[in-house]
Amino acid sequence: MAKATDTPMMVQYHKIKDLYPDAFLFYRLGDFYELFEDDAIKGAKILELTLTARNKNSENPVPMAGIPYHAASNYIDILVDAGYKVAIVEQMEDPATAKGMVKRDVVQLITPGTKLAGQHGDGKTNNFLAAVVHDNAGIHPAKKGAVPRPYALAYIDLSTGELKATFLESADEVMDELGALEVKEVVLAKQDDLQAGDVAQLVGEKGLVVSFQGEAEASSTITYLTKDLKDHLGQDVTALLLQYLFDTQKRSLDHIMPVQAYERQAYLVFNQVSRVNLDLVQNARTKQKAGSLFALLDETKTAMGGRLLKQWLIKPLKNLKDIKARQDVVAAFKEDFFTRGTVQDQLKYVYDLERLAAKAALGTLNAKDMVQLKKSLQAVPALQGALTGTSADPILQTLGNDLDPVSDLADLIEAALVEDPPVSVRDGELIKEGYDDLVDSYKQALTDNQDWLANYQEEERQATGIPTLKVKYNKNFGYFIEVTKANLSKLEEGRYTRKQTLTNAERFTTAELKEHEDLIFAAQTKRYDREYELFLEIRRKVKAEMHRLQHLAHDLATIDVLTALADVAENLHFTRPTFHGDGSRAVNITQGRHPVVESLLPAGEYVANDVTFPQDKFIQLVTGPNMAGKSTYMRQIAIIVILAQMGSFVPADAAELPIFDQIFTRIGANDDLVAGRSTFMVEMAEANLALQNATAQSLILFDELGRGTATYDGMALAQAIIEFLAKHLHATTVFATHYHELTALSEAYPAIENVHVGAKLTDDGRLHFLHQVQPGAADRSYGIQVAALAGLPGSLLQNAESILATLEREGAGQVEVEETVKKAAEGTENVAVETSTNSASMSDFTQDNRLAEEVPLFEIADAK
Ligand code: ADP
Repeated sequence: MAKATDTPMMVQYHKIKDLYPDAFLFYRLGDFYELFEDDAIKGAKILELTLTARNKNSENPVPMAGIPYHAASNYIDILVDAGYKVAIVEQMEDPATAKGMVKRDVVQLITPGTKLAGQHGDGKTNNFLAAVVHDNAGIHPAKKGAVPRPYALAYIDLSTGELKATFLESADEVMDELGALEVKEVVLAKQDDLQAGDVAQLVGEKGLVVSFQGEAEASSTITYLTKDLKDHLGQDVTALLLQYLFDTQKRSLDHIMPVQAYERQAYLVFNQVSRVNLDLVQNARTKQKAGSLFALLDETKTAMGGRLLKQWLIKPLKNLKDIKARQDVVAAFKEDFFTRGTVQDQLKYVYDLERLAAKAALGTLNAKDMVQLKKSLQAVPALQGALTGTSADPILQTLGNDLDPVSDLADLIEAALVEDPPVSVRDGELIKEGYDDLVDSYKQALTDNQDWLANYQEEERQATGIPTLKVKYNKNFGYFIEVTKANLSKLEEGRYTRKQTLTNAERFTTAELKEHEDLIFAAQTKRYDREYELFLEIRRKVKAEMHRLQHLAHDLATIDVLTALADVAENLHFTRPTFHGDGSRAVNITQGRHPVVESLLPAGEYVANDVTFPQDKFIQLVTGPNMAGKSTYMRQIAIIVILAQMGSFVPADAAELPIFDQIFTRIGANDDLVAGRSTFMVEMAEANLALQNATAQSLILFDELGRGTATYDGMALAQAIIEFLAKHLHATTVFATHYHELTALSEAYPAIENVHVGAKLTDDGRLHFLHQVQPGAADRSYGIQVAALAGLPGSLLQNAESILATLEREGAGQVEVEETVKKAAEGTENVAVETSTNSASMSDFTQDNRLAEEVPLFEIADAK
C-alpha cells in the first residue's frame, strides 16, 4: 500500500505492485532485483535472503531483500516451482541519461505454467499450461445426435510451442485430461462454473489456477493460430490461453505452432486412477519415476525423446495402421543392431532442440545455446547416414531420407561463433577470426595498441631511468604510469599529468598514453558492438528457420523413442504383438509378464503366465490367496495392452490382441481417503464409471471389488456387477475376488471362466506361492497362513484356525449363491442375490469338504 511518506521510488513501486498484488515483484535497481515490504519478508524466508531495510534510519524503514540480477533465474525457479508468480520489473531507460525517476515496467510475469524449463531436472517432463471453457449449449461435433461436449480444453508447452485443443463431455473428463498432462497451471474464464477448487486440487499444491478475462479484441496472431478450429468453443478456449500468454509474457511468441485439434476418443482412454494404479509414469507408492513403466521404457537419449515417450505412454493409439507403422520401425531397429547403435550414439550429442528452437523465437538464445544448437545439428548427418547408408531396411532408409538436417544453420554457426563463448553476448569474444573483416580489424587495432603499450613501458623506463616504472591498467582509471614516491624527482617536469595518489606511489598519464588509451577503448567498444550486431544477425537467421528446427526436433524425438523401444524389446525380451483385424475380442497372450515386477525380482524368478480369453469367454474370475499374484496378473494384461497400442513390443512370448477402446481399473491401494470418501464409496464410484462407460471393446480390471463393506453386501454387489458385465456389457473383464462362492457363476454364464493363482502348503506347513495362473477356482484362501507369514502371534493364529473350523462346519451362505445360480441358469431375469443379512457370519469358502482333508498346521514356536 502506498503511504504519504513514500519516496518517489516507492510511489512508483506501489503503482506497479498494485497491478500485480499476487506476484512477487522483482524490482530492478541497478545490478539488483529488490523485493520490498511483504514480498521482502516472505521472499527472504523462502529464498534464504538477508532481510534489510531501505531508509533504515528514517521513521518508516521499508523491508527490503536483494537478489543480484545475474543470479535471478535460480531464485525465480524456486518461487515458481513453489507455485508463486514472479513479475519482473525492468528499468525502461538508461539511468545515466534519464531525467528524474527512471521509468520502470513489468516486462514479464512468470508463473508455474509459463516457466521455461530451467536447468533443473532431466527435461523429460513437459511444462503444460491449460485453459478450460464451459458452455452449457455445448457443441455437437461432426455427427448429428452425438453426445454434446460442453467443455473445451487447450494446452501448450511454452518451452516447445506445442499447442493442442479438444472437446470434452464432462468435468470428470476435463480433470482426467488435466491430470494426464500433469498440467502446472490452468486458466479459467472468469465466472466459469467449473469448480475452480476441484481444478486446484488436481493441479496440486504446486500448481496454480487463475481466472482471467482476456481482451476481447482478436489479434491476427490468435486468428492465425486457431485457423484450423471450426468451433467457436475451441477458438474461445485457445484464444483465452493465448491471450493469457501474451498478457503475461509481453514478448513475441512466434514459435507457437498452430493449434492441433485432437479427439480424446482417438486414443486408448484410461483415467487418472488407472494411470496411477498401473504405475505408468510414476511409482504409485513412492511418487518417483523409478519403479514405473516409464522408467523401464526410457532408453531415450534426448530430453525431447523422453517427453514424447511419456506422451505415447499416456495416449496409446487405436488406429491399427498407425500402431503398425510404429511397430514396423521398432522391428527394423531391433533387427539392425548396428544402425540402432549408431543412431543412438549420435542422439547423445543432440541437445534439447525443441526448446532451443523456442528460445530462438523468444529471443533468449545466447551464444552458448547457439553452440549447443550447432552441435545438435552436426550430429544429424551421421545419424542420417546410418539410416540411409548402413541400413538395408527400406523403412529406416525412408526415415533417414525424410530428415532435414538444417545444415545451413550448422555451417553458419560453425563459421561465425567460437567454440566456447561467454554467457554475455555484449562483451565480445563471440565471433571467430576470419568471419568478419570489421571485427578482425578492431582486434588487430587492439593488438597493435597493446604492443605499443608494452614498448612504451620500456621506452619510459629508459627515458626516466626508473627501472621499476610500470604501465598499468585498472577499470576506474584506465591506463596509467605508476612511479614510486622515491623516484618522483626523476620525472620530467610538465610531461606527466597526475591521475591518482597512493601511499607509496603516484599514477600519471601522458599525451601519448592518453591517445593510445582512446584508440584501445574505441576499438574495444566498436568490436563489442560489431560482435553483438553479428550475433543478433545470426540469431535472426536461426529464428527464420525455426519451423525447420521444430520439424527436425520432432523427427529426432520420434527416432529417439522408436530406437528406445527397440532397445527395450531386445534387452527385456519383448515380442511384436499382432492384432485381429476383424473386430474379434479374443485375447491370446503366451507367457506374459509384468515387466516392472519382473525387473524388481532376481533374474529367472518371475513366473510368466498365459492370458487366454476366447471370443465368447470374456470374464475371468481370479481366486487365490493374498500375495499369490492376482493383482500382478491383472495389471500385466493392462500393461501389455497399453504397450501394444503405443506401438511397442510386449513382454510375452507371443500376443494376439484386439484393439481396446478404454481401460477401467478398480485396484485397491489408491483409496481416496484424503478427499473424505470411504474406501467403499471410492470402489463403487470407480465401478460405476466402468459400468456406465465400458463397451464390448473395453478392458476392465476389478480387484476384490466389494471388500469395503459387510461380507454379504460386498458379495451381493460383486455378483450383481459380474452378471451385469456378462449380460449387458460384454467387456473383457478380469475380476479378482476372495468370495469363492462367486466362482459358481461360471456354471450359469458361459462367458465366465474361473482361474486361480496357485499356492501350496509345504510339508512343514509353510505356504508356498506358485504365482502360476491355472484353470478352475482356488480351493481355499489360506488367509491364516498368509497371516502367519506376516508374523502374527502363534496363539492368535491357532485361535483363528479353530474359529474357521466352526464357521466352515456351519456352512452358511452357500445356499443363496447356489439358488442364484439355479435361477440364472433357468434364465430368470433380475438375478440379484437376496442376501439374508441375518445369517451374515464369515462363511467360507469351499465347496469341497476341506475339513476332512486335515490341513497341516504350521509350526508354532511360541504356542505355549
Ligand atoms: P495378490 O494380488 O494376489 O495379493 P500380488 O499380485 O500383489 O498378489 O503379488 C504379490 C507379490 O508376489 C508381488 O509383489 C510379487 O513380488 C510376487 N509376484 C506376483 N506375481 C508374480 C509372478 N508371476 N512371478 C513371481 N512373483 C510374483
